[in-house]
Amino acid sequence: MLRAVAAQRLRRAASLLRRFQSTLVIAEHNNETLTPITLNTVTAAKRLGGEVSCLVAGTSCDKNLIPRVAGKLDVAPVSDIIEIQSPDTFVRTIYAGNILCTVQCDEAIKVFTVRGTSFEAAPTSGGSASVEKLTPPPPVGLSEWIEQKLTKSDRPELTSAKVVVSGGRGLKSGENFKLLYDLADQLHAAVGASRAAVDAGFVPNDMQVGQTGKIVAPELYIAVGISGAIQHLAGMKDSKTIVAINKDPEAPIFQVADYGLVADLFQAVPEMTELLKKK
Ligand code: FAD
Repeated sequence: MLRAVAAQRLRRAASLLRRFQSTLVIAEHNNETLTPITLNTVTAAKRLGGEVSCLVAGTSCDKNLIPRVAGKLDVAPVSDIIEIQSPDTFVRTIYAGNILCTVQCDEAIKVFTVRGTSFEAAPTSGGSASVEKLTPPPPVGLSEWIEQKLTKSDRPELTSAKVVVSGGRGLKSGENFKLLYDLADQLHAAVGASRAAVDAGFVPNDMQVGQTGKIVAPELYIAVGISGAIQHLAGMKDSKTIVAINKDPEAPIFQVADYGLVADLFQAVPEMTELLKKK
């Protein structure tokens, strides 16, 4: 019964959206602040034309929302869009970012996710949107919120940081990541890692950059002791400037790097940190 009511509400919302040709952005947040990537999603929504609404659903927000909404509406969702060519034609990547695929979606209601780093952030001021408080429907009782464990960090969030310093297996241990934290402190950077560093237990898996980790596109990405496997590149190759520090001149990371330093990281990184401190 409740499911039928929810489906009916969704259909009504969908028919309204169709009538007004508007886009509904589902905001990502932690019940206190919006994640910066929501602003990039708003930019993507604006590219479609029409009115843009933003749904901030709290307090115990469910993940996995998009597949459920698409299921209820009986439409095929399109995930991880990196470019909007027209209101029904989108570009997304496949095979770890190696092939760009242009898809035309002929569903009456389009349900999709965007890769935030492919769109610039929408301005946070100057808009005139009205804010409306909605009463949520009663819970269906199929799942229960228990708790959320978040890593606390004073550093910028990995996916929205302007500078990212990432370490790989070349760091050799979790303790040695301190070298990267010291460098990151000087650059106000987030710290990421390769999957090999995560799998070796050097750092937690929420720091992983790559195909099966986070996708980043900062102004500056510094890869330290990372070979540059295709799965790692899939998560950082859109960075504006890539710097690589590796002792192996043949390391594939140098093929995508704008600046490469063939050096022992245990010597080069502390030197860089000291130079930055002097500045
Ligand atoms: P390595 O390849 O071992 O490279 C270490 C580098 O450190 C070497 O180039 C070496 O020359 C250098 N080095 C060593 N000592 C020093 C020193 N003292 N000074 C300077 N340089 C030094 N990987 C990811 O990163 N992200 C992903 O999301 C991801 N997803 C994957 C998904 C699948 C399905 C698969 C199969 C693999 C995935 N991988 C991913 C793993 C990927 O294939 C590589 O194994 C991994 O990226 C290698 O990590 P690395 O570069 O740290 O380690």
